Order: sequence, then C-alpha cells, then structure tokens
Amino acid sequence: MGNKDLYAALKKYFGFTQFKGLQEEVISSILKNEDTFVVMPTGGGKSLCYQLPALMNEGTAIVVSPLIALMKNQVDALRAVSSEEGIAHVLNSSLNKTEVKKVKSDIVDGVTKLLYVAPESLTKEENINFLNSVTISFVAIDEAHCISEWGHDFRPEYRNLRKIIERIGDNIPIIGLTATATPKVQEDILKNLGIQQANTFKASFNRPNLYYEIRPKTKNVDSDITRFVKQNEGKSGIIYCLSRKRVEELAKTLQVNGIKAVPYHAGLDAKTRVKHQDRFLMEDADVVVATIAFGMGIDKPDVRFVVHNDIPKSIESYYQETGRAGRDGGEGHCLAFYSYKDIEKLEKFMSGKPVAEQEIGHALLQEVVAFAETSMSRRKFILHYFGEEFDNATGEGGDMDDNMRYPKKRHEAQDEVVTILNVIDKTNQRYKSKDIVSVLVGNINALIKSHRTDTQEFFGVGSDKETEYWMALLRQVLVAGFLRKDIETYGVVKLTDAGHDFIKNPVSFMMTEDHSYKQANDDSIITNLKGSGNAADQKLFDLLKSERKSVADKLSLPPFVIFQDPSLEDMALKYPITMEELSNVHGVGEGKAKKYGASFVSLITNYVDENDILRPDDFIVKSTGINSSLKLYIIQSVDRKLPLDDIAAAKGLEMPDFIKEMEAIVYSGTKLNIDYWIEDILDEDQQEEIHDYFIEAENDKIDEAMNEFDGDYDVEELRFYRIKFISEVAN
Ligand code: ADP
Ligand code: MG
Repeated sequence: MGNKDLYAALKKYFGFTQFKGLQEEVISSILKNEDTFVVMPTGGGKSLCYQLPALMNEGTAIVVSPLIALMKNQVDALRAVSSEEGIAHVLNSSLNKTEVKKVKSDIVDGVTKLLYVAPESLTKEENINFLNSVTISFVAIDEAHCISEWGHDFRPEYRNLRKIIERIGDNIPIIGLTATATPKVQEDILKNLGIQQANTFKASFNRPNLYYEIRPKTKNVDSDITRFVKQNEGKSGIIYCLSRKRVEELAKTLQVNGIKAVPYHAGLDAKTRVKHQDRFLMEDADVVVATIAFGMGIDKPDVRFVVHNDIPKSIESYYQETGRAGRDGGEGHCLAFYSYKDIEKLEKFMSGKPVAEQEIGHALLQEVVAFAETSMSRRKFILHYFGEEFDNATGEGGDMDDNMRYPKKRHEAQDEVVTILNVIDKTNQRYKSKDIVSVLVGNINALIKSHRTDTQEFFGVGSDKETEYWMALLRQVLVAGFLRKDIETYGVVKLTDAGHDFIKNPVSFMMTEDHSYKQANDDSIITNLKGSGNAADQKLFDLLKSERKSVADKLSLPPFVIFQDPSLEDMALKYPITMEELSNVHGVGEGKAKKYGASFVSLITNYVDENDILRPDDFIVKSTGINSSLKLYIIQSVDRKLPLDDIAAAKGLEMPDFIKEMEAIVYSGTKLNIDYWIEDILDEDQQEEIHDYFIEAENDKIDEAMNEFDGDYDVEELRFYRIKFISEVAN
C-alpha cells in the first residue's frame, strides 16, 4: 500500500489533505495487521486512526466504545461521507429484531466496514458466534483506559475483551486507543489486552496554546467568575461545576448579568439538553455552564476558555476538560477555582466505595491537590504526570501559566532536600508522602509506631518547619525526579538513582514557595484576602480598611460591625461612588449604606478622581434574587416571632444553612430581632458575657470565640448571639 493511496483515501472519505500528528504512522501499522497502541490527547484525531484503515480493509472492523451517544455520533458522521447507509452500524440491545437482521446481513454482504459495540453486547454468546462466522479486519478499543482501575473511568466490562476477541477469531489485530497517558494505565492496558509487543504511538500531551491558572476559591467565586466572563465578552467558553444545582445557580447569575449563558446537566430533559448544546454550538449562547456530562464528543474548535468552578477529581479529568479549549490552536484560558474544602467534599463522595477504589481515588486526588497548590510550571507538572519530560525554559508554551508569569519566591533548599532523601532512605523507603512528613516534623501515628520509627535519632529532624513546607518540598523533589511514587503500593515513595546521587553529591536546589491557599474559615464571614488572586485594588482596600477603623473607633464599635472584609474587597473592585451603587456591593444593604456609607463613598470618589480610574460599571455583579424571597420570608417570620427551627424546617434548611441566611441578612444591614429565641437558649449572664466578648474582639470569628469560652457555648449558640449582636450594634 503506497502513501499515495493513503492520502487519496483520506481525501475521499474525510476531505482532509494532511494527517494530524502521528496518524499516518498509526494507520500504516494497522494496515500491516499489527497490534497497535495509540496514546493521543483528546482532540488528537484518534477516531480517524481506525476509521480510515477500516474503510480501506476487507471485512468489518469492530469498534468497542463505552458510550452509546459517542458511537451514534461517529456512525452518523461516517454515513454522511458514504453513499452506503450500511457502511457503519451500532450493535446494541436497543435494536429490534428487524434492525439486528439488517445489521447482520450488511456485515455478511461486506457492506459494513465499521461495527460499533458496547463491551456488554460483545459478551453475548449469540453475537460472539455471529462475529466468529464473518470476516473481521481488526478490533479497535476506544477509550481503552476504561480497562484500568488506575484510570479515571474504570469499567469492569472492559476487562474481558481479550478472551472474547480470541473467540471471535485467531490473530485478529487489536488496536487500543486512549487519551490517558499515565505509565501505570498504559501498562495495564497492554497487559490486559495481551498486546505488550504492540507498536506504540504516543503523541505529546503538550498544549502550548493553553494558559493554566488556578485561583483560590472564596465566597466571592460568583463575582470572580462573572467578572472573568465579562472580561472575555463575546468569547465562547465552558464552565464546569460539580453539581446540577450549582450549574443552575451559576447560569442564572451569569444571565442576570447580561451574559448569554445556558445550563447543561443530566437532570435536564433530553430536548432541553439538545437545545442548549445547539445554542452553544451555533453561538447563540457564549457560555455553557455544565456538569462533566457536557463535552464528550463535543468538538467546538473556538472555545476560548474553560473555567472550573470546582476542581476535578483527577489530573486526567482536568486535562481532558481544559483540553476542550483552543482546539483551533488559538488562545485558550483554563481557569480553575480551588479550595481544599472541595477536595474533602470529593473524598466524602468516595466513602461508600470499596476500599481499593477509595485508595485509588484518594491517590488521584492528592495529585490534584499537588497540582493546585504547586508554584512550579503547571505545564511541566501535567506533562510529568503523563510521563513526559518538559523543559519549561525551552519547551513550547513554557511560560503559559500563572506560576511562570508571576513567579513565586524561590530559595535554596539543598540541605532540606538531603534531609528528606535521607529520612526516606533510612526508613527503608516504606512510607507515603504524608507519613514521611510526619517523621520529619515528629508526629507519631500508628504506622510509625509499629515500625518504631519514632525511636530513631532522625525522628523529628525537621520539626523547625511546618508540615506544609515539607509537603511542598517533597512534591518538588518528586517532580525533579529524585523520588518516585510506587503506584502498586498506593503511592509509597521510593528513591530514584538520581535521588541516591543527590545524597552523595548534593547540588543547589531552588525551592519555589507554594501558594498558601489556607482555607478561609467558614464560620467567619470575613474572607481571608491574603493570597487571593482577584482583581481588587489593594491600595484602595487598605484605605477603606483604615477608614473603617476610624469610623469604628469613633463609634466605639468593633470594625467588623461596620463593614465586613468581603464588602471592602468588593468596594475595592467596583468603586461605588453613589449610595445606590454602594448598596449593590456584596454584603451591603440599603440600611447599612445609609448608616455608614457616606464617608466610604466620598473616599472612593476622591480615589477614583486622583488616580484617573475608569470605573468598570459593567462589572457590577448582580445577584440572582433567588435568595431574596427566602430572606424576605425569614424577616417576616422572625417578625412574627416564629420559632427559628420551624422557620428553617418550613424552608427545608438545615440549621447551619439557615443561620447563614440570617447572618447574611444582618451583616448587610437589616435588623433581625431574635431576642425571643435567644432568651430561650441563653440566660442574662451568659448573654452579657458573650456581648462583652464581641464588643472587645478584634474579629467576629466563631472559632476564636469558641477558644475564648473554652467549650462553655456551642457553635450555634455563639452564632445566634452574634446575629443579635450585629443586628443591635451595627444596624
Ligand atoms: P479524539 O478521539 O482523539 O479525541 P477525534 O477523533 O474526535 O479526536 O478528532 C478530533 C477532531 O480532529 C475531529 O473534528 C476530526 O474531524 C479532526 N481531525 C482528525 N483528523 C484530522 C486530519 N487529518 N485533518 C484535519 N482534522 C482532523
Ligand atoms: Mg475519541
């Protein structure tokens, strides 16, 4: 078969004049009837690798694919390029008798070149016998990572394919294709399919036109996302959320802010889903807000950004989802919001699963944490994860991430690296990262105790530094290649040759200081500004803070009752110069604006004038009002002195969520008189004691109050009282 024929077929069937990446080599391998293994990133053009040889070969190629929807898309596409309707078929349990008959006769007649099957259908005796009686050119296994438990999408039905293929015929070439490139998954695939000798083609996973950015997720994530989308007005983008509810909320928020956004998730009926998908593809909608149900098989080339409202559960998912940006080679901004709390949420989801699966899920999540928190080149991190070397000084796209554009501080850490390597060496390389760090800082746990490691002279050698420091350094040492994680033992860390060399001949090791991403305490409405990557005007924020201080001093009130930090932050972002604008700021109601706002508004007006600031009027993020009817209900019910637990129950709210709503009400300047409730739970002395605390306190954090009272009150009591307090002294 000459190359000319190959190009002629490419043109004839697909209308393309060039092969993409390694396609030509892959196809030649398949046409030689050799087992072939293809690793290409999503969008790399894997389908064509088996479709073209299938069309050229004699007989029928079987394509195993996990998703019926994907199969249907491909079959439709193939039928469109051929005059022969029967050129491609799907064989699955949804077909009726007549349809099955038609499929079989087309195969027997040699019309059908590609037969798509789900692995379940392949296990049926009847199908195996039939396929055994016809000419099969090869079997292609798409999304082959489903074979491996170590992938992100394990499907047990995939594990028996080898045996079934042997029953269908002798020496049928097997083609495995996947976009998951971790060495462990690849090894599993080859082993399970029995094709260790396969010709392997692995494309680079580097996507140089994608810009990777991670920002801390705060309570302002709605505004952060809205602002980001507004800054990219008119561009096409996907926003991924974990839950359907969040998809709906965020889509609404974007809509009321004038953004053409549509929601997409599996809870919508099929018609709506198709409609929304089409609107996005046809550019009636700029943005689709979706769960991960969206995107499989979607091939919109000009997606300019992918935002993750929640961090994905594996690097594979992150890579795949961000990979939908910039398919056309143009700009693609990948922005993810990360908070460690989301990781804990994901861990909770796994808790019902079998232990082995949990261990794997946990290991995958730890990689996500490392990726999110790292200060090194994100591209290098991802490619290292996929077993690919990348030099970010010379490699394409080397400067395309937040860490490389805005580098974090670095410092010499040669001695500390030697310390880590020594501890691992001396403990016989049997610990996972977490335990190694425990040994370093001197924390005992059952495992360490059972090895008597706590009696060793090096136990606690690193206790002068924090756990986070050692974790961060350990990750950097891993990526530098001095250590490796042993996958079989769920992430036990071992020394590499380079690691042994380093102990003998240490050289300079510049450690990048990691982001802190310390979780803002949920109890406190005050959001920690430090490290937050948003666009608030820091200089103005500082001015607003000192204004707040002087107002507070004048009124002998703690500053937090005037305005909360997030409100000041929002002012430093939106530059409100009228009272009305001020009352649109996060956490500021009309009442509060009137009462305390005047001096803030004039301060901002001066600041805007002096610094020639163009005010981004259109950045004002409106809220959806979804919650305001709830708030109104609460205000009215409290007015009628209904028991708080009844009000919460009537709205189907858990108490902590209900309290949160009430807090939002009083913090934005509306009074709530809950004395009737407080009297029931706290006597007068107690009330006085808590009141005195808050009036003196530097901030309103509940955990600090808890500490102060040392268990005298529970969280809810303190939060209730804080509502009364804010309501009275601030409003
Ligand atoms: P994968 O399965 O690797 O994610 P697909 O097979 O879905 O990728 O292909 C992605 C896109 O690339 C499709 O739109 C396909 O038409 C296009 N494509 C594939 N091969 C070529 C080629 N040789 N020239 C131009 N476009 C191609
Ligand atoms: Mg594919």
